[in-house]
Amino acid sequence: MAQVNRELTLELLRCMGVELPPKTKLSDDELDKRLSKTLDGCQYLARVVPNPPLNPVSYKPWCLNKSNKRILHAIRRHNFGESSVVYDNLMKGNSHPYTLYSDPLMDLRQSLMTMGNYWDEKRTCMMLADEEKTSCIFMRITEVLEFDPSTPILMVLFRRELRGIQPSDSMVNWMLLHEKEGPKQMGHIRATAKEQHLLLRLLERNSERLLPTYKPKRTALERDLASSFIIPVGPLGGREVARFNSNDGCCVCGDPAKSKCSRCNVKRYCGAVCQKEDWKAHRPTCTSLQGAKWQTVPFITYDKHLQMMARHGPPGAIAVRQSRYEIVQHQGTSDESQGDPDASAPNTHGSTPFIVKVQLNSADVHKLLDTTLLPGQKPMQSGVSMLIYDRRRSIEVVLVKSICPDAAFIPIAELVKTRGPSGLKLFCWATRSGEWSLDLCTDHLPEWQQW
Ligand SMILES: [Zn+2]
Ligand SMILES: [Zn+2]
Repeated sequence: MAQVNRELTLELLRCMGVELPPKTKLSDDELDKRLSKTLDGCQYLARVVPNPPLNPVSYKPWCLNKSNKRILHAIRRHNFGESSVVYDNLMKGNSHPYTLYSDPLMDLRQSLMTMGNYWDEKRTCMMLADEEKTSCIFMRITEVLEFDPSTPILMVLFRRELRGIQPSDSMVNWMLLHEKEGPKQMGHIRATAKEQHLLLRLLERNSERLLPTYKPKRTALERDLASSFIIPVGPLGGREVARFNSNDGCCVCGDPAKSKCSRCNVKRYCGAVCQKEDWKAHRPTCTSLQGAKWQTVPFITYDKHLQMMARHGPPGAIAVRQSRYEIVQHQGTSDESQGDPDASAPNTHGSTPFIVKVQLNSADVHKLLDTTLLPGQKPMQSGVSMLIYDRRRSIEVVLVKSICPDAAFIPIAELVKTRGPSGLKLFCWATRSGEWSLDLCTDHLPEWQQW
């Protein structure tokens, strides 16, 4: 399997939503496994190939009829969380919801759609290469199978070539043959070296999951190509985000933390060596948090809040909201990555302070300090609550006045009312202090954010 250095592995993990400490002490081997497992998560592999090997013969070919979409659309996966980001970006007038060639996973997802589009246009051969052509992946889609009406399986032959290494004669002839047949034949996809690493890892891993006796038809020139398959790739599910991000240790290396930064009392380290190493990066945050006061607040998840509102709240409260991790296109099949409604929000920040937006419901404001319930009123009907979330909405939780101690709730509500420009929202520093609690900084505020 193609080796990837630690720095690149960490970057590829980050683009898939897994942030490990920069000097993590996980061995190369463990880190590499983490990369493969995360990539499996992004393919929702357990849904399509729960028990490898995959036997292509057991699926019927994908055909473009009423129920089946073009591969371009069927191979797409995104979740509800991404939908809201895309919507926000479009509302701001950005023509593209994200920047191309900066996020290897986003780029890979885009390339898979291009491949699907080629297949729809009856082009089967393609070449992915970076601008300088230092590395290329050649591929032919041999057939497309139907896992279910919304999930295609692309069977492929592939080979990677690196500049400076003599390609095999048959490969050169294969390229010439398909180039000669004109642009209708060979599709060209621009892919950064990082995206290619991700795709190559996916192809190599899936290759091992194919039934060994499966032998796709290949021409004499294709004897050096390996056989594999591609299934839809999208964002990691909520459960995986939580599982692969869990780190309560030293923020530099991941070892058990033994001390906190004595200035800000927030960042946790295993010892002096890691703390010294982190100082340059930590200094700006540390300075703005020095001597800060923190308030621990218990929360419930936003989904849980909606559930409770529907049960006890004012009439017309919306009962169901899609989990932000739920995949939009997994039609008719239960999404194994969907979070348990009683589970807490995943801790994707470890012990690192992060910025949250605290938002008061405008209807709540005048009732903020009213601690008494009207006769016959159930706690939820008072409805006073605050919504708290981070930029990526990896945490989205609610403080409910009726179930949060006043000593914790009121100082935060007052802070938003007095320091927020509109009195309705404010950006605050937060750290995750427990499974069901956040610590919010009540005096030192971060710079105002544009989200
Ligand atoms: Zn450490
Ligand atoms: Zn500090």
